[in-house]
Amino acid sequence: MGYFTAVMKKISYLFAAALMLCGCAQTIPTEDVKIYDKSMSATAFVSDTTVEVENESSSQESSSQEDPSPAENENTAQETTEIVIDMSWIIEQSKAEESKKRSSESWESLMKSVEAVKQYYESSYKESKSIADSIAESKSREAEANKPTDPPQPDGDIAAKLAEAIAVDKTYWVNYRDPKVVYFTFDDGPSSNTPAILDILDRYGVKATFFVTYQPGYEQYYRDIVNRGHTIAVHTAYHHYEEIYTSYDKWLADFNLIYNYIKEVTGVTPKFYRFPGGSKNGYFTKDPALKLRIINYLDSLGIEYFDWNVVTGDGGNVTANEEITNASTVKKRLHPIVLAHDSSAKPATVEALPYILQYYIDWGYSFDRITERTAPIHQGSAWDY
Ligand SMILES: [Zn+2]
Repeated sequence: MGYFTAVMKKISYLFAAALMLCGCAQTIPTEDVKIYDKSMSATAFVSDTTVEVENESSSQESSSQEDPSPAENENTAQETTEIVIDMSWIIEQSKAEESKKRSSESWESLMKSVEAVKQYYESSYKESKSIADSIAESKSREAEANKPTDPPQPDGDIAAKLAEAIAVDKTYWVNYRDPKVVYFTFDDGPSSNTPAILDILDRYGVKATFFVTYQPGYEQYYRDIVNRGHTIAVHTAYHHYEEIYTSYDKWLADFNLIYNYIKEVTGVTPKFYRFPGGSKNGYFTKDPALKLRIINYLDSLGIEYFDWNVVTGDGGNVTANEEITNASTVKKRLHPIVLAHDSSAKPATVEALPYILQYYIDWGYSFDRITERTAPIHQGSAWDY
């Protein structure tokens, strides 16, 4: 208990004693008061600001006597105390104490309100932040899920092959200088799917290459291929392996039929050729001389042959989803040339094509048609990557 509080308690005690002795509050003068109290057995002094009270005889039990005898009076005379109280000072102190108490209560109440408001806003903020974080996290997950997978960089082996290719004096080939160009090629057309394929290519701004077959009745489709900016090239007239690969003359007859037909229908002299079944096939394994003779003939016409190094797999029986997955092997190629088919028997290719193109766009590839500046793919040689 602080000294001031102790003092105030004593003042209150004295004030109560004064009320008791004087009868009522109205009679209390505001000037100095003298209190004579036989029963208190206390000595008190009141100065301007302090009161000191000292109990001298707590063992005395004579306070109940209302009319003490002179002897007793005499005995307690030394204990009778003259108390001087500055009532105005007591009242002021009391008011000050009350005011301070009220002020303190108000302050505590205010602080409680402030704390409550603060807690409300903190919990409200936490809740809002939690919702915002949750939304942000969800968006981040979505973005991560939709983020295109970046194709890996060419590994050491491919990089070495690139160096080798450049050393063989093909540095002008654009697709070696910029590996992120993909070449789409469609074999076996034209077909009832040709218009749909051309429309999809247009929609994605893609130029491609069509290695065509002999399909009388589809003359307009040959012309559409050329007029819409794609490369038209020779594949085979009839696609009969047994015919074209059993003798040079049979191959030549098949080749000339489609070669001349393209020139006649479109006015374009083809510059590119694709072996049915590819340039590395079982027939050439048995008869390597036939392959060399054919290549010599192609050279005489200024024709380069192109195999492929990525397949959609539509040469077999695949779903659109499988084609999309297969086509993603483009990532393993230095200059991808993708084989797909323009054939009425391959509707899945039309279905898969927009997704495949979008994958390449997301991977940062651009597209081109085969031109004289395109490095060929020759399977089984240095040119198959
Ligand atoms: Zn074919």
